[in-house]
Amino acid sequence: MNLFSKRKKYFSLEPQTDRKKSDKKKKEQGPSIPNGMWIKCNTCKMIIYKKEITEYKLCPSCGAHFRMTPAERIAVTCDEGSFQEFDADMIPENPMEYPDYDRIVGKAQDKTGLREAVVTGRCQIEGNDAVIAIMDSHFMMGSMGSVVGEKITRAVEYATGEKLPVIIFTTSGGARMQEGIISLMQMAKVSEALGRHDAAGLLYITVLTDPTTGGVTASFAMLGDIILSEPKALIGFAGQRVIQGTIHQKLPEGFQRAEFQQDHGFVDRIVHREELRGELGKILKLHQTGKRGNGNE
Ligand SMILES: [Zn+2]
Repeated sequence: MNLFSKRKKYFSLEPQTDRKKSDKKKKEQGPSIPNGMWIKCNTCKMIIYKKEITEYKLCPSCGAHFRMTPAERIAVTCDEGSFQEFDADMIPENPMEYPDYDRIVGKAQDKTGLREAVVTGRCQIEGNDAVIAIMDSHFMMGSMGSVVGEKITRAVEYATGEKLPVIIFTTSGGARMQEGIISLMQMAKVSEALGRHDAAGLLYITVLTDPTTGGVTASFAMLGDIILSEPKALIGFAGQRVIQGTIHQKLPEGFQRAEFQQDHGFVDRIVHREELRGELGKILKLHQTGKRGNGNE
């Protein structure tokens, strides 16, 4: 029931060998922690006993940062019990009447236990109030559908009204093709809301996590007053093979990784996941407006 199923029957868009390669690559970049007692780290290739992995989801052998779900992110970022979710029940329509879209969304919902690819809410981080949005790469690759855009926009507007800083943890494959132009409009909608938040003199921090690509990089991921990133996160717009094929040049070592983007001015600081909460708490405290110490200092 795929729009392109008829074409696929007769020819492939990629040569067979390349397709095999891209399948392998896909496998390597997929969710890093499957079910079972043992897992394999895609970076150092070590087989790791699952119980050795802490709540930070780091490889005990090489320190690689595995992908996290919003619930796991909240647990290591927000003060315990402080997170209050916004718009948890918002679900997508099928604006383009894309065949099978409802089933695809349903499958992602079953897999993740979430309604959509972003979780938003307010919380405290080391005692500082903030509004946060956390995207989830496990839900249709964190693609930016209308609900993702609407939830982030509402969260930012709430923050503007309440004079609160915003933190967005980005991870996305970019636009959601099943929502066509509606998906692309979310880039402008979120950016506009962030513009009003900025005009009110409020702080916006982005935390880029692996992978942040496509329309999310091209809009709100890069609009942060402060842009942090996790180590070795993939950050880019178009895929590397597309770029290489367009410019006919070999791409440099580490291209589109967080360290490369920091060297080229797109990322302010790379922060290890275990230090991220402390770093965010410090930045929030430094940028508090019109507030005095809360007595704990
Ligand atoms: Zn490893």
